Amino acid sequence: MKLQNKVAIVTGASKGIGANIAEKLAAEGAAVVVNYASSQAGAQAVVDKILAAGGRAVAVRADVSEPTEQLALFEAAEKAFGKVDVLVNNAGIYEVAPLEQVTADHFHRQFNLNVLAPLLLSQLAAARMQAGSSIINVSSVVSTLSPANTVVYNATKAALDALTRTLAKELGARGIRVNSINPGLVETEGLHASPLIGAREALAAITPLGRIGKPEDIAPGVVFLASDDSGWMTGDNLYIAGGLR
Ligand code: NAP
Repeated sequence: MKLQNKVAIVTGASKGIGANIAEKLAAEGAAVVVNYASSQAGAQAVVDKILAAGGRAVAVRADVSEPTEQLALFEAAEKAFGKVDVLVNNAGIYEVAPLEQVTADHFHRQFNLNVLAPLLLSQLAAARMQAGSSIINVSSVVSTLSPANTVVYNATKAALDALTRTLAKELGARGIRVNSINPGLVETEGLHASPLIGAREALAAITPLGRIGKPEDIAPGVVFLASDDSGWMTGDNLYIAGGLR
């Protein structure tokens, strides 16, 4: 097992990509804090699955776009497992809006959760982490693909990639690594609730490997970036997108 004695926080782990990341980290021996905002039952189901497989996990509710709740999340993690070695900034929202529909609320909602939350959570993590720790940001292929009609979402992920590269330089001397995973379109609950589901066939058609992704395609990359197998990688964007760029 690659993550024995490690403690991981996964934000937005009650469903979708985050839920599978939590399960895969736990399967490699990490104790996992399964964060959620409202889906208590979903988070508990992830925890129950991990416990049934002999792993360690707790569900912790925190809206990570709220600073006081960010701190409470770390306090809950330390109370449950004593430390934090891995932070996976996965919670995120994607809203479709062509330029004429963009509003300040649309901008702030996405930037608060997709950029400001990972930044402030990284600050809290870095204050607690020891050498050998790892921060992993769940970005997106859109940070460089820049598709039309999601200008604000694309900008949040481009900003997140900049944050990854910058914090890698700030934290490298302390032995804390910062990398991102950049998935292509992935079949999740969130995708099914989004108009982006309508782009599924078109995106599969322009993806070299001929299909969109599943959460199971993404989580192994997160395990890699959390483990010492990637011990000389920092500031990198790991694309898992079936070849889509
Ligand atoms: P999802 O199915 O919508 O799940 C989102 C998760 O985030 C849920 O667990 C949700 O918890 C949680 N969450 C939402 N707001 C939160 C908040 N304020 N505080 C804490 N948790 C919050 O999403 P997904 O499709 O798996 O996407 C996950 C990440 O991957 C996002 O960062 C997204 O941008 C990125 N991504 C997704 C795709 C894709 O095609 N799906 C592609 C590239 C990148 P509750 O249910 O409790 O609200």
